[in-house]
Amino acid sequence: MNPLNRLKIAIARTRLTSNKLEPGTEHPLESWILTKVAKEASKSPDLRSVIGRPTPAQVDRTMLRHYQLHKVRKMIEYTGENSYFYKARWKEFGIKPSDIRTYDDLCKIPITEPKELADAPLEFMCVSQTKVMRAFTTSGTSGTRKRLFYTQNDVLNIVDSIAVALRNAGMSENDTLQIMFPSVTAWDPGLMLEGACKVAGLKAVKASTTDIEEQLNIMLANRTSMMIGLTSFIYRITVLAREKADLRGFGMKAIILSSEPLPEAMRREIEDAWGCKALSQYGMTEMGLATTIECGVHDGMHVNMADFLPEVIDPDTGKHCADREEGELIWTSLSFEGSPLVRYRSNDISATIDPPCGCGFKAVGKIAKIRGRRDMQTKIGFGEKVYPLLFDEAILGVKGSLGYQLTIDRPAYKDRLVFKVEFAGEPFQGKEALLKAISGLDEIRSGIENDLLEPPEVEILLPDQKGWVPKTRAIIDNRKQYD
Ligand SMILES: [Zn+2]
Repeated sequence: MNPLNRLKIAIARTRLTSNKLEPGTEHPLESWILTKVAKEASKSPDLRSVIGRPTPAQVDRTMLRHYQLHKVRKMIEYTGENSYFYKARWKEFGIKPSDIRTYDDLCKIPITEPKELADAPLEFMCVSQTKVMRAFTTSGTSGTRKRLFYTQNDVLNIVDSIAVALRNAGMSENDTLQIMFPSVTAWDPGLMLEGACKVAGLKAVKASTTDIEEQLNIMLANRTSMMIGLTSFIYRITVLAREKADLRGFGMKAIILSSEPLPEAMRREIEDAWGCKALSQYGMTEMGLATTIECGVHDGMHVNMADFLPEVIDPDTGKHCADREEGELIWTSLSFEGSPLVRYRSNDISATIDPPCGCGFKAVGKIAKIRGRRDMQTKIGFGEKVYPLLFDEAILGVKGSLGYQLTIDRPAYKDRLVFKVEFAGEPFQGKEALLKAISGLDEIRSGIENDLLEPPEVEILLPDQKGWVPKTRAIIDNRKQYD
């Protein structure tokens, strides 16, 4: 590394709030968020007039909520001045910052649709091109690609937010993080993670090989004590590697499963194999990725509430759902300068979970595990709604299952479900066990009993050690209509 780069990193490091936390802080993420709230109150008369001037320890959930509403007001003002899209939008709907005083007031703000961002990314840009440090293009697994712009402050913010999430999962300067995203994905979150660790002064090694032995060798050579990566990729490595080595002997401290939901069946296998906790992480590229991290309670993911505001709404009425009531996640970025999004539709099904949490967080709430995407939800038989997560639990609960793809069609009047399952183990017994697990689901049983569903079929695929690519769609629906 040249001296100038080293100097830049040293300067950036001094600007990270996560590096100013006392060593041994019990709840790094919450302390970090509350520190940011207290700091904002000390410099903003608008917020101070509502919550006073609390110390970080005094900030409670009501103050945090007021902080978020204050940031939304500022964001309406900022985007109204700097983004063509929002300037026109606020004018059309007559939205003013002062309209937003309560949580319910947020519903007055129209939703920003992903398509609007995809169609005109430059209209969302709030800074001149020269101030853009990074531009990201989303992978576009569902729908069109979107382009986002980040300033230097935005990138530092993302780095800070990644670092504090890692610390909350138990990472310290003594640990080494193995970053495991297969390089075949269109956009590599591993690069951002690696850079973030470097700036934050945390040790990391990037390992994207699909070769199991190579992954294990990298762990040994670097004394890896934590892992982060694509959920299905780490799961696959776990199942195939435990045949070759005693994984508990690696002394892993925590494993963070990212970019895909973590079925409980998968979590159990991973925790059992490595002998450590497995935590889920969820983020959207549109929100700079590092938005949430699960805690040890395994009941939802804590949100970086200092920089992001999640809401869960009923997609039909647009009204807020109650605590723990399922609906669609809507995100607002509270701090970004480049292309901030206000009330952006995620298409993800989740719920809000209010604090306090069993892990010790008192003010910072959570979102529930993502149940699926609205565009991946489908109906079978009697009109039973099915999500990939439903089958994930059943299929991955069978030892040896690595992943699957479901094809639904309707050759005559009944729905036919064919599961192609990648399976490491004895294929005949595997098929039996899988059929039993799938047929045991209420949604399947009622369909068969009511003569609306053919008995499900399972095809076993042997694991492909070399040519594996992560699946982009778990359910392929070939029926012309299903309502
Ligand atoms: Zn918690």
